[in-house]
Amino acid sequence: MIHEILPVGPLQCNCSIFGDEATREAMVIDPGDQIEDVLAILRRHDLRVKAIVITHAHIDHIGGAAKLKQATGAPAYMNLNDTELQAMLPVQAAWLGVREPEKTEIDVAAKDGDSLLVGASEFHVLHTPGHTQGSISLYAPAENKLIAGDTLFRDSIGRTDLPGGDGRQILRSIHEKLLPLPEETIVIPGHGANTTIGREKRMNPFLQE
Ligand SMILES: [Zn+2]
Repeated sequence: MIHEILPVGPLQCNCSIFGDEATREAMVIDPGDQIEDVLAILRRHDLRVKAIVITHAHIDHIGGAAKLKQATGAPAYMNLNDTELQAMLPVQAAWLGVREPEKTEIDVAAKDGDSLLVGASEFHVLHTPGHTQGSISLYAPAENKLIAGDTLFRDSIGRTDLPGGDGRQILRSIHEKLLPLPEETIVIPGHGANTTIGREKRMNPFLQE
């Protein structure tokens, strides 16, 4: 499986591009910005996007999704508990002092327990609310990878002081949905460096009893 991680936009959101070598099918997760660069990677690997997945409706993760949809025709997936937050994108843009992105029509509701296929590899949708109400993580057992959005970071967890955030809920999501995954699972957070489930279990100061 091809996997490119491209930090995009002023907040350097980690946009993941997965591509299957056999079918040339691709999934793009969190195309927050720099869609020209995302498209260049897709062209370089000769990939066709079949799904655009938004881990949550913060502008740095969803900002470029409409443009990517127009360029690829691929459907957008998001958990609908973030619909309200998505409606606040003009406000989010004003907070950051950036231009308001074009609205992304969500085609498919991503729900806990859903699976997406890229080639023969399954990506399981885990609903992990707390950073936002509709935050999801994607677990690909065959790839040994977890795309964690802004729920879990190396040595940190997502902030919960923005609208829709809940500090107790994010801890519950991490403890119940993420930490039970195999320790060697590689975690790709929404920002910053990769880590593993085992490392965060042992070292993350927010997760120690
Ligand atoms: Zn966020």
